[in-house]
Amino acid sequence: MDKIVYYTTPILLLSVVILVMLERKYPYTKGLPLFRDGFWIDLVWYTLIQSYFLKILIFDYIILPIDQHYHLSSLQLITHWPIAAQVLFFLVTHDFYIYWFHRWQHHSKWLWRTHEAHHSGTEVDWLSGSRSHSLEILINQTIEFAPIILLGANPIVVPIKALIDAVWGMYIHSNINVKSGKLQYWINGPEMHQWHHAEHKEVYYSNFSTKLAIWDWLFGTAYLPDTKPLRFGLPYVYPKDYFLQHWHAVKKVDEKKLLENGLFSKYYYLRPNLMKWMRRKVKTD
Ligand SMILES: [Zn+2]
Repeated sequence: MDKIVYYTTPILLLSVVILVMLERKYPYTKGLPLFRDGFWIDLVWYTLIQSYFLKILIFDYIILPIDQHYHLSSLQLITHWPIAAQVLFFLVTHDFYIYWFHRWQHHSKWLWRTHEAHHSGTEVDWLSGSRSHSLEILINQTIEFAPIILLGANPIVVPIKALIDAVWGMYIHSNINVKSGKLQYWINGPEMHQWHHAEHKEVYYSNFSTKLAIWDWLFGTAYLPDTKPLRFGLPYVYPKDYFLQHWHAVKKVDEKKLLENGLFSKYYYLRPNLMKWMRRKVKTD
């Protein structure tokens, strides 16, 4: 099972390279820099650190104890299914779930607190999807992976599903000017999902689909005009710091005011200052 990462990791990295190249060649929004605002927060905090710890929490401290208590996986309810059928089953059912949960997050003022971080980027690209509050990931990935384990799916289904999630997630957020025509009724992509991140009132309650666009068309939430959004992100000020983004879900924080504190400001500017210092060092050496 562990050997599967020999395949999934290169596929994931190759997908990143392909998406970034397509973003450079066919940009949806022209002039978006590769290292856009919030790039390092998304890569280091959300993609690497948060994902690492949440994976341990979700699998080892939630799903495994449930299974040890109820022994559901030993019933092997779907173990005999072909692997492709297992992957397809979880892909469609979870995608249906995520459509409705995502829609609920936009309509409930409490759940919105767990989702606004995801919408806070003012520049949307392949990495933007990674910015999701840990509580949102905890809920969604537990609901996603618990049935895979508990129904006794082949262990290989977990990394395959995780790879599909990652690649498709990067694709729908990517800054690529995709024109998929009739396919956009079925397969979701940047054409509709870039609009979902727009700071335009008319789309605040639209385009909730993740992988399959059919849910939006079926349930009346599709929004696909011929034009492109003028602005992205939230209609209000939102912190840029990872920890403040998390704390903001509990209590609204004024980042600007906090920056008046010398110690906080030192921490806040540590990475950019370090990078500036390194650049200067490279130049002078
Ligand atoms: Zn959303």
